[in-house]
Amino acid sequence: MQMMDAIVKPAPGPGLELRQVPVPVPGPGEVLIKVHKTAICGTDVHIYNWDPWARLHIKAPMTIGHEYVGEIAQLGAGVTGLHVGQRVSGEGHITCGHCRNCHTGNIQWCKNTSSVGVDRDGAFAEYVCIPASNVIIIDESLPEDVVAFFDAFGNATHTALMWDLVGEDVLITGAGPIGIIAAGICKYAGARRVIITDINDYRLDLARKMGVDAAVNTAREDLLEVMRQQKLVEGFDIGLEMSGNGAAFRQMCSVMRNGGKISLLGLGNKPIEVDMNDVICKGLTLQGIYGRKMDNWHQMSYMVQGGLDLTPVITHRFHYTEFEQGFAAMNSGKSGKVVLDWTKK
Ligand code: NAD
Ligand code: ZN
Repeated sequence: MQMMDAIVKPAPGPGLELRQVPVPVPGPGEVLIKVHKTAICGTDVHIYNWDPWARLHIKAPMTIGHEYVGEIAQLGAGVTGLHVGQRVSGEGHITCGHCRNCHTGNIQWCKNTSSVGVDRDGAFAEYVCIPASNVIIIDESLPEDVVAFFDAFGNATHTALMWDLVGEDVLITGAGPIGIIAAGICKYAGARRVIITDINDYRLDLARKMGVDAAVNTAREDLLEVMRQQKLVEGFDIGLEMSGNGAAFRQMCSVMRNGGKISLLGLGNKPIEVDMNDVICKGLTLQGIYGRKMDNWHQMSYMVQGGLDLTPVITHRFHYTEFEQGFAAMNSGKSGKVVLDWTKK
């Protein structure tokens, strides 16, 4: 049996361990991918910290991680249309293909989803194995450091491109990595003003590097005053909720214009209260966003090839053997995306 390095949750409890595990063997219809680079997602941090969500969802021992880029190492029986050596990433939601949403192309709403690095072994390893239908071919022109977090870029793309953004004023609540990426997408897609809020100055500074028109610390700054400075007359046309925080969502509803549209990505760790009078009397549209649409993968490649530069969101790069430093950076709140290199030292 061939063995490989992998970052593993060895047993229930906090922390992760770098250990040797067997290289997966691709079954019929599956593809084995040699991992080049990975990125750490907030979900991985929940798993590292062993918070209540992780305790409920993670069955140790398992390899974690779902944001990655690599190359095809081996094809399982019956796989056609792909070849060894091809640069690839993978859609992390493995869907059933049989439910109503799968049949209509809305795989993001499959009721039988299983997630790479959460429900099955993940990509923080030298090799990961996924169904061929989840393989995404990545053009050689795209920088691997950025493709490493296309999974998160996909969440941002799905949320931001839910609405027509041309000439619109956009409020993003939450300048985490996904909020900052979404800000870049909104500017790229032709929004007039993009204003982002957070309570973390380090992250607001990162958002400024991505070209937002204003980055507002709502713990001490008045958003209404910033709106006046930015010449917003009737309120925001579009809202992207990316904090999972109730106060941020309530503030968003209060500053939307009548008829405004909100997409909701942020997942809170408790139920959120909202003034329904804002939603009803303003005629707001609320759209929940889960995962990515398969088409988002194409949009992401084309946006990067068209000049969308996401490198400002990368704040740390480590070798996979230094993964503890990567998780410490993520836990410090002073990070954007953390990229791990899986080439052998
Ligand atoms: P993150 O936790 O790094 O970022 C959230 C940001 O919100 C933080 O910077 C935090 O300081 C900020 N925040 C907290 N309180 C705030 C307030 N009152 N006002 C404004 N900002 C506030 O998360 P991320 O990785 O960027 O992901 C964004 C959100 O999307 C998270 O909630 C995550 O769980 C969620 N998510 C959802 C999906 C999905 O499929 N729906 C997928 C990925 C991530
Ligand atoms: Zn399905």
